[in-house]
Amino acid sequence: MRSKGFKPLIIIAGFICLSICSFSLAHHLGWLAHDSGLLPAIARAVYGPDVRQEITRLKRAKELSPEIPVITVLCYHEVTPDREDDCMNVKPEVFRQHIREFKEAGYSFIDVGDLRRYAKSPVSLPEKTLLITFDDGYADNYKYAYPILREEQVPGTFFVVSSTINKDNRLTADQLREMLSNGMKVGSHTVNHEILTNMNTEEVDFELRESKKSLEKILGDPVYALAYPTGKTNEAVLNKTKKYYDMAFLATVSANQKQTLFTLQRYGVFSWNKHIESIFKNR
Ligand SMILES: [Zn+2]
Repeated sequence: MRSKGFKPLIIIAGFICLSICSFSLAHHLGWLAHDSGLLPAIARAVYGPDVRQEITRLKRAKELSPEIPVITVLCYHEVTPDREDDCMNVKPEVFRQHIREFKEAGYSFIDVGDLRRYAKSPVSLPEKTLLITFDDGYADNYKYAYPILREEQVPGTFFVVSSTINKDNRLTADQLREMLSNGMKVGSHTVNHEILTNMNTEEVDFELRESKKSLEKILGDPVYALAYPTGKTNEAVLNKTKKYYDMAFLATVSANQKQTLFTLQRYGVFSWNKHIESIFKNR
């Protein structure tokens, strides 16, 4: 009789003790820090980042474009410890943290060269594949992002505006050559970073042709990937792009937009994306 009445009480007391201990341990380990919740941490450890949304997106992307491999592409701009108030800037330690979290979540890292090979081969990409890109060719990409990519042994693809090479606060020709020789890839972000959909056919042709030509001259290597300035494209721009490039990237992710090798969607990464699950909400 006595033990029968106490049993539920002992179980409840035990459960409370266990909850307090788990909470304290989680707090001690920093899992309950301001922007790193315990539940997202557990979900990330068990399932990978933002699992439900990501699986829905993958399924939807496959339905929309069965002809191309499903891939997650990130678009960074500046990576510097300065420029606190710039939403396009990601701090170097946060950038490194993103890479480590994607590694923990089981992602494989590829570059545009790998994507080109996969697109031409019957072998499909692994389900969790990540391509890291940088737009606009900022000098800080060489100073901060490139050393982290090398240390983490992860490739990066840099979309450069050809008329700005060697200009103030931009990558130099020597830096681009060094990055290329150490496993990075360089793509075109046009000659002048003007919006292609506002131009006539000749102007579009010039931007696509001349940026490719001058980059190839500087690098001594083929340039076959393009990032549309601000991600804008249309039928006329697509047709011209196919003449000079093997693939091209947008600047956003939308489940409603058809994805092909010339409309590859990218998640923009911003200063507020401290952890990778929040990146998948940028669309
Ligand atoms: Zn840009």
